[in-house]
Amino acid sequence: MDIRFDDQVAIVTGAGNGLGRAYALELARRGSRVVVNDLGAARDGTGHSDAALAVAEEIRSLGGEAIADGSDVSDFAQMEALAARTLEAWGGVHILINNAGILRDRTFAKMEAADFEAVIRVHLLGSAFATKAVWNVMREQRYGRVLMTSSASGMGGNFGQANYSAAKLGVVGLANTLRLEGVKYGIRVNSIVPAAGTRMTEDIFPNSAFDAFGVENVVPAALFLVSKDAPNGEILSAGAGVVQGGWVTMGDGVLLPEANRTVEGVARAWAQVAAQEPGEPVRNGLEQAHRMFALLGGANGG
Ligand code: NAD
Repeated sequence: MDIRFDDQVAIVTGAGNGLGRAYALELARRGSRVVVNDLGAARDGTGHSDAALAVAEEIRSLGGEAIADGSDVSDFAQMEALAARTLEAWGGVHILINNAGILRDRTFAKMEAADFEAVIRVHLLGSAFATKAVWNVMREQRYGRVLMTSSASGMGGNFGQANYSAAKLGVVGLANTLRLEGVKYGIRVNSIVPAAGTRMTEDIFPNSAFDAFGVENVVPAALFLVSKDAPNGEILSAGAGVVQGGWVTMGDGVLLPEANRTVEGVARAWAQVAAQEPGEPVRNGLEQAHRMFALLGGANGG
């Protein structure tokens, strides 16, 4: 059965280019009304253009419904105004895809504080501000799907991207708590880790890989994560036709005997401490303590 978004309203940030544009077009093709948000910035976040307008017109020319919006995700007042305009036009917000992004790559030694701040503002604060602006609407509707955009750079680090890595794992932390706070209101919050040939990756992917890494190969996983039957609190990596699950995990660890609760004791137990078994996802921050109690209980025969 086709997965459709009829009678739904979606906001896609940074939808004037690349991945966001592809999400917006496919959501509209599957029946959603779409707010195409984009500041129209250059890759480093400077400047403005009519990128949002062009995508909204493209959607309308294909028979869909779209509104263009040029606001800046890193400004909370602008996100509140965007949510208010969307409600006024269409009476609800069912989907938010936090996709807007910029890059200011440099090694940490050379990175200016302002470049660190700008990247955190757009990716992390922008995702929090846009989500906060629609959160009560979704709670009142008792329905919402929110997608955060993470990155392999956040999951594993990437040379020259300290600011970006911090922001991109930050949105996963944000999703981790929102998935818990939203669930009883019908809100599900997931994260996508895309790999696609866009202007953001044009100097990373070799030219020959651009075809295989077309944005259309990320769209299915992203749209599944904002669909009615989406899971909650998952991380999916997608690119070139491959879809992979991702998890934040903790090992079971080791209960150190009293005499070994020393710096040297940790060094001696390193192999057990660092063992990546069983690699179970952490589904709730309290699990750290639960796992500790499990080891303590086992040691006490409980
Ligand atoms: P892109 O540069 O084509 O698109 C990003 C869009 O965000 C641009 O149109 C830009 O104008 C807009 N934008 C920037 N700052 C904004 C702001 N303050 N408010 C509103 N809009 C703003 O890049 P893309 O590759 O399509 O990236 C989309 C998202 O996916 C980004 O969050 C990026 O970090 C993430 N991502 C992409 C890849 C990849 O392989 N392309 C990998 C990992 C993560």
